[in-house]
Amino acid sequence: MRYSQENGLGQFALPASSLADNSGVKTLTVARNFGFGGVELWGDGLLFLSEGEIQQAIEVFRANPISLISVHLPVMDTNIASANRDIRRASLESTIKAMTIARRYGAKIAVLHTEVSRGNKVASFEDISRKASLDSIYRLWQIAEKLGMELAVENGGRRDLFSRQDEYLWLTENVLDIPIKKCIDVGHAAVRGWDWSAISSLKDVVCVHVHDNDLKHDRHMIPGYGAIPWNTLLPLLQNKPLVLEIREYKTLEDFLDAALWLNEKLMREG
Ligand SMILES: [Zn+2]
Repeated sequence: MRYSQENGLGQFALPASSLADNSGVKTLTVARNFGFGGVELWGDGLLFLSEGEIQQAIEVFRANPISLISVHLPVMDTNIASANRDIRRASLESTIKAMTIARRYGAKIAVLHTEVSRGNKVASFEDISRKASLDSIYRLWQIAEKLGMELAVENGGRRDLFSRQDEYLWLTENVLDIPIKKCIDVGHAAVRGWDWSAISSLKDVVCVHVHDNDLKHDRHMIPGYGAIPWNTLLPLLQNKPLVLEIREYKTLEDFLDAALWLNEKLMREG
């Protein structure tokens, strides 16, 4: 079945991060056919494209009526918070490469993870990694500015740096003194026990990653199949750009069902 924007799906984006395709073109086609309002690109795939493939994708995005909302910057095998300088330098290079390609596609928002500290109790790199993460965010914001993009820092899951609510707010609103934006991941927030009531008043939220879990593990389930209190949460997400970031799905129709289900709830609450 084909759904149109009139069904109210316009506010939902279908992220390539869930489909894990290479260029985003496949996701773009699927999202358009299903009536989604936009796509978020998966940045890792961008790193493996030839110039010819990039050019091809630019044409597809140019000709397509659906909007490219954001790019999720690379996370596989990269760590912008690495205590190892060589790894951090390479990670920054990959991140900038993905950002630049996504900008050529037309993306205006780049979503960034704060990343993790890979140390352990015997050898803790926590302090170094926290400083490295902050420094990387600042450098990437500078690049984003030059490219005409907004940099949005996402609140991470249990292991990610600055993923506690107070730390995330400290990071995005106080410490760096640069206008970085927020990408709120409700699944990660649930795992970290965030206070939902604070979400509606957050400033500069440019995207909200939507998925479900058991409040313990970051499973990226279909909304409604976990323990996140959607009836409480959805009214707080009114008018925010929602991106379905589901990994536990069987068919692509699951995305559509989830968007319709959430949409119906949003309209009822709104
Ligand atoms: Zn996310």
